[in-house]
Amino acid sequence: MLIYDLETAALEKIFNEWNEPTYRVKQVWQGLYQHLYSSPDQFSNLPISLREKLSQEFTFTPFTVKTYLDSADKSTRKTLFQLPDGNPIEAVLMRYGDPADSPSAPSPLPEGEVRMGEGKKRRTLCISTQAGCAMGCVFCATGQMGFKRNLTSGEIVAQVMYYAQMLKERNETVSNIVFMGMGEPFHNYDNVMAAVDRLNDPNGFKFGARRLTISTVGLVPQIKRFADEQRQVNLAVSLHAATDAERLAIMPVNKKYDVNEVIEACKYYVGKTRRRVTFEWALIHGVNDTAEAAKKLAERLKDLMCHVNAIPLNPTRGYHGEAAKRQHAQIFKETLEREGIPCTIRMRRGIDINAGCGQLAAYTN
Ligand code: SAH
Ligand code: SF4
Repeated sequence: MLIYDLETAALEKIFNEWNEPTYRVKQVWQGLYQHLYSSPDQFSNLPISLREKLSQEFTFTPFTVKTYLDSADKSTRKTLFQLPDGNPIEAVLMRYGDPADSPSAPSPLPEGEVRMGEGKKRRTLCISTQAGCAMGCVFCATGQMGFKRNLTSGEIVAQVMYYAQMLKERNETVSNIVFMGMGEPFHNYDNVMAAVDRLNDPNGFKFGARRLTISTVGLVPQIKRFADEQRQVNLAVSLHAATDAERLAIMPVNKKYDVNEVIEACKYYVGKTRRRVTFEWALIHGVNDTAEAAKKLAERLKDLMCHVNAIPLNPTRGYHGEAAKRQHAQIFKETLEREGIPCTIRMRRGIDINAGCGQLAAYTN
């Protein structure tokens, strides 16, 4: 059994059966989530007999590292893990605000694009929630590979721990986590929320909900459930088109939940939580990057507390659409903003190692 799959109460129950005192649970929890130990022999405050028992009964890593790739500028690392059943998953670390990334040593930045976290050092993890994805968005490499299986809460948490352990060696910590890797988080709702709760645990990793973001393709019942649960976690919704015909052409899920229903669910979310919703928009040349597309979108988003994150399309093997041209992206942004909808054009990251949004799949180049 994977140790990261356990809640505190479950470990308490097991230790109870083993006749171990309850304070040992706390020691294990601190070792795992505060000292970031990755194997039982690091728990030097536990008796050797208990360390041996832990190592017999639990696994501390749910995957093997098959390979990793660093982008040429070293700001992005993509790791390919293999799960025990052979399924591959990927997780990405993005470094922001390092010296080479700072205003004092600027690389030319096209007008209108922002450098995320400029001046502030950040370590953002992009984590997978499923092996593959069932939603079939045509422009997404994960969608192109199809659905393999849900990840357990422990397999989700373990991706975070892998990078947290690596960062710790350089005295660095994880600053943000986005569930934007492989898979649709709301298609694996319970396990994703269990992972969120475990990462949040004030006696464990203590990762603030506000620094977590869940991105969904727009599963309406789950958006409402998420709103009702009043979590502090940020919500992003992948829209990409503002009319049903256009959205249906690139996102099969629109058959089940159309644009109207998705936007209504987002209104419900904002009403319930008073939190802003982010809409994701992959700018595809000639498809959804026109001023007209921006106007249609602005019309749909009127009176909704929101923000649009536009990202020029990243290339994938199975889709021949092209990234929007800078100039068109800029017009798209300005059109939205004239209509009162804030919009950011995100800089593309890790494209040379296929680690950009929608590029995660079981192959590496
Ligand atoms: N399944 C979730 C989260 C994972 S995808 C979702 O769809 O929201 C993370 C983000 O990458 C989504 O906004 C998705 O639409 C976007 N994306 C997928 N393929 C892309 C591509 N080729 N270029 C740019 N963004 C892409
Ligand atoms: Fe799945 Fe998100 Fe990719 Fe769509 S964009 S196929 S929902 S991972």
